[in-house]
Amino acid sequence: MKLTILGCYSATPRTFTNPTSQVLEMNNHIFLIDCGEGTQVELRRNKIKFSRIKHIFISHLHGDHFFGLIGLVSTFRLLSRDIPLHIHGPKGIKEAITLQLKLSNSWTDYPLHFHELTNTESEIVFEDEKVVVRTIPLQHRVYCNGFLFQEKPGDRTLLIDKVSDYDIDKVYYRAIKKGKDVVLDNGTVISNEELTDPPKPVKSYAFCSDTKYNEEKIPLIKDVTVLYHESTFLESHKHLCAKTGHSSAIEAATIAKKANVGSLILGHYSTRYENIELFREEAQTVFDDVEIADDGKVFEY
Ligand SMILES: [Zn+2]
Ligand SMILES: [Zn+2]
Repeated sequence: MKLTILGCYSATPRTFTNPTSQVLEMNNHIFLIDCGEGTQVELRRNKIKFSRIKHIFISHLHGDHFFGLIGLVSTFRLLSRDIPLHIHGPKGIKEAITLQLKLSNSWTDYPLHFHELTNTESEIVFEDEKVVVRTIPLQHRVYCNGFLFQEKPGDRTLLIDKVSDYDIDKVYYRAIKKGKDVVLDNGTVISNEELTDPPKPVKSYAFCSDTKYNEEKIPLIKDVTVLYHESTFLESHKHLCAKTGHSSAIEAATIAKKANVGSLILGHYSTRYENIELFREEAQTVFDDVEIADDGKVFEY
C-alpha cells in the first residue's frame, strides 16, 4: 500500500503548497482521493499515470477538495482517454462538472460515470475481489464523507513440501488455498492448518478530511493500518475548530488513539502556520506514531 500526498494544505493554493489531493495505490488500483486545484500538475510531478486512474473519490464540495476536477476531466479528454472514469462524490458533483463541460462544449469522449452520495450512514461505494471502499460520514459545514479503503483477505499460502509429502493432486490446490481440509484415499483427514499458512495480513487506509471532532466514526476506522486525519489548527486556535467544522492536531490524535490505529498522518493545515512540525509535536502528546503529510511525500506500508 502506497500513499502519495499531492496536496495537504487547507484553503487556497500557494506557490509551494497545494490543497487536498492524494493517490492511494492498493492491490493494483490507483485511487485518487480529492482533487483540489493543482492536482493534475502534481500527478505529473509524481509520475502517476493518468490512464491508471479509474476511480476518483471526492469528500465534499468545498473548492479546496474538488476545484481541480474539471481540469483533470478535461485533460483526460485531450489525452484521448477511452477508458471509463468513475467519480464518487456528494450529490451536486455531476451538475457542477457537466455544466462546465456543456458550456465549454467539451463533452468527454470517454465514459464518465458519476456516483452521487447522499447517505449519512456508511455505505460501500466500490468493491471488487481484492478491495472494498466505504464512506466514513464526517461532520463538516457541508455534507462530507471520508473514505475507508480495505484490502480483502487473500488466499492461504500453500506449503508445497507438505502437499507433496501427502502426494495431494494439484486439482485440490485451489480448494486448499481457500481453506478446505483434504481427505486422502485411505480416509485420513489432513487439516488445512497443516497444509497452509494464513493469508498475508490485510491493510487498510482511512481518509478523514474535513471534519470537526466526532467520535461516531471510531467504530468504522477501528484498528486501521493508517489514518489520515485533518488537523487544521494547533492548540493556539482550537477555539476555531467547532465554528469552522475542523479539528486540531490533538483532536486528530485523540481519534487515532481511541480507534487504536497503527499510524496517524496529519494534514489539511491552515496556511497561517509556518512550521508544520508543531502539528506533530502537539499530536504526540496524545498518540505516538504520528507522521506529517507534506506535498510530494510518499508513505509506504
Ligand atoms: Zn478543506
Ligand atoms: Zn471543507
